[in-house]
Amino acid sequence: NQQILLDNRPQGQASASNFKLVASDTPALQDGQVLVRHHYLSLDPYMRGRMNDSKSYAAPQPLGEVMQGGTAGEVIESRDPRFAVGDKVVGFGGWQEYSVVNAAQPGTLKKVDTTQVPLSHYLGAVGMPGVTAWYGLVKIIAPKAGDTVVVSAATGAVGSAFAALAKARGCRVVGIAGGPDKCRYATEELHFDACIDYRVHADTPAMTQALKAACPDGIDGYFENVGGYILDAVMLRMNAFGRIALCGMIAGYDGAPLPMAHPALLLLNRIKMEGFIVSEHMEVWPEALAELGQLVASGQLSPRQSIAQGIAAAPEAFLGLLKGKNFGKQLVQLV
Ligand code: NDP
Repeated sequence: NQQILLDNRPQGQASASNFKLVASDTPALQDGQVLVRHHYLSLDPYMRGRMNDSKSYAAPQPLGEVMQGGTAGEVIESRDPRFAVGDKVVGFGGWQEYSVVNAAQPGTLKKVDTTQVPLSHYLGAVGMPGVTAWYGLVKIIAPKAGDTVVVSAATGAVGSAFAALAKARGCRVVGIAGGPDKCRYATEELHFDACIDYRVHADTPAMTQALKAACPDGIDGYFENVGGYILDAVMLRMNAFGRIALCGMIAGYDGAPLPMAHPALLLLNRIKMEGFIVSEHMEVWPEALAELGQLVASGQLSPRQSIAQGIAAAPEAFLGLLKGKNFGKQLVQLV
């Protein structure tokens, strides 16, 4: 069982030397346990925060232990009557090829139906990132048909699900993404009404102008994934009583400071800005996953994935995700 451990904590930017590849045997199963062979590992931006030893909503990733994270795979041995060999499952098995799961513990392992939704999508659109988009859109932005909503990191796992959910609610949906290929993909495949390349519109005045053109009626809802000058520009174009779902600020995860230039606009425009952590809202997951599963099964949402091959590729793929080298949901495929 090859595994990737967190070997030491980053000083500033994370690097490959923070991780260590090791091999170990999988222990024999006890009653109530199942052995899962991982087909896909999920790489997610939140993992960067957990590599630090600082106070946050989640405990830091322990040093010398397998990197924690979502996994999708197949049961290959079972000593729990609820799981049979061959069941496709999602869990939190971490960056390793196999995991032994105490299946009796609620929430550790979930059987999934792969007849209409491919297994890998349960780590993306029909998994945690999809529910994240759903929560911010439905519970915080709460749009009416005809509203203009904007999302940054638009072509990623969260952003692509956001677009499909917002289009289904009759919104004008505008994305912000890095580079012409991502922007073309956003409008041609993800049904965005417009997409702004922040590498071209690389400061607050340029981004504000681009938003003015793409959102002629102003912005009613903003789903924030990035932070920095993009948020400043959006704030200048928000309508009165607009809502901002503060989901992520990836531009600052590697330590860059993210000052906010116009906090007074929150007051002047009576804007609601609300941060949220999707795992604290488990009550919405069934409803959100049902809608997301339907969107994927019907082809209305067929999000792109970036798939790295083999466990040893996980650290580089993860570091790339923090720099926008991924194009769609970042996964590692193991078999
Ligand atoms: P993505 O698939 O969107 O990948 C991350 C993307 O972020 C990159 O592709 C890149 O897109 C963009 N990015 C990276 N660095 C920068 C930068 N410096 N400036 C601008 N954009 C950058 O990841 P996810 O969909 O998994 O996550 C999106 C966001 O949602 C993250 O901020 C994440 O932390 C947050 N999140 C929050 C959750 C919560 O509960 N609050 C749960 C899940 C995710 P591009 O090339 O277009 O810039």
